[in-house]
Amino acid sequence: MRFVHDSLPQRVCFGTGEAGPNVQREVGRLGASRVMVISSLREAPRADKITADVPVALRHHDVAMHVPVDVADRAREAAAKEDVDVVVAIGGGSTTGLAKAIALTSGVPVIAVPTTYAGSEATAVWGLTSGDVKTTGTDAKVLPRVVVYDAALTVSLPAEMSVASGLNALAHCVDSLWAPNADPINAAFAAEGIRALAAGLPAVVAEPSGIPGREHVLYAAYVSAVAFASAGSALHHKICHVLGGKYNLPHAQTHATVLPYVLAFNGPSAPEAQARIASAFAAASLGAGSALEGLQVLRAALPVPRALRDYGLTEADIPAAAEAILPAVPPSNPRPVTAADLERLLQAAWAGDDPREFA
Ligand code: NAD
Repeated sequence: MRFVHDSLPQRVCFGTGEAGPNVQREVGRLGASRVMVISSLREAPRADKITADVPVALRHHDVAMHVPVDVADRAREAAAKEDVDVVVAIGGGSTTGLAKAIALTSGVPVIAVPTTYAGSEATAVWGLTSGDVKTTGTDAKVLPRVVVYDAALTVSLPAEMSVASGLNALAHCVDSLWAPNADPINAAFAAEGIRALAAGLPAVVAEPSGIPGREHVLYAAYVSAVAFASAGSALHHKICHVLGGKYNLPHAQTHATVLPYVLAFNGPSAPEAQARIASAFAAASLGAGSALEGLQVLRAALPVPRALRDYGLTEADIPAAAEAILPAVPPSNPRPVTAADLERLLQAAWAGDDPREFA
């Protein structure tokens, strides 16, 4: 066995109903006195409550999906003008992404308080969109210093969005098993992420306001993101990255829709990864068969996104999308990928065909 693994330095505070006191304590630990709080306008009342006892210099609500460059520039200017010394981001991946954009150019530390299962809070990956091109990069400065997890904040996430977001986390796990920096440590996190998501998501759907299911999925979101953060982006993420940036497709739903097709395509060429995924599903009593069978059994129990055509991709977009994805496919992908393969995969995901009949 031979590998090099980076563990990212980050403090994680997990406690249901404890976001307020945890944020207050962590702001104090960082010695901050001019806090910038970022949340969408919709999340503002909740963000105000969580940060009621911290020294807030600025509340910022100008947040947009995929972090457009102009939105990032406005936030950076506002942060500089107020001389903020910590950014507290309360929201989904778009909100965390905006805080990362500020950290990237200023080095100001971030405390992330996630309200979805996207997992951006556990990675050093930033993303910015200019026109229809999304650029991503990795920089230690953008890794939030602290993550404050509070499952009560995810209760308001509707069941369908919770499922899409949870499947986004599942995609982090699956893709990390054949990613460029895949190693046994990432694989252990990925397997645990799959198991916990497979156990937690049906519980969230059965009882969306139930805390145990929410806690399970939120914990899973973290371990999934840790696997992804260290393993790097593989075929699935490259596909979704282009679809999100070029066609402005919603992030979580795109991941949730594309995942079974990538698993059907890559799985047979990655037997170890397949076995790992299958046994993680089996550990959650789902699917005694293959990895894809486990995923399909889980999906059948959930209100899942099914077809890219439901999210704004047109059939006519497919050839150009395939062409844009092809150069980004990692050379280490377990199966060689051609433009025709990508077109076939996108066509199936666009139509919502049965992934078992696609490979
Ligand atoms: P999002 O942050 O855009 O949120 C989706 C929608 O859900 C928004 O309308 C938001 O207001 C709403 N929402 C959020 N939390 C809610 C709650 N608790 N209750 C009700 N509504 C709520 O979407 P996302 O899927 O969390 O994040 C997607 C973004 O994150 C993308 O830009 C993606 O590229 C980025 N991302 C980055 C990484 C990384 O490592 N850098 C990882 C994952 C995702």
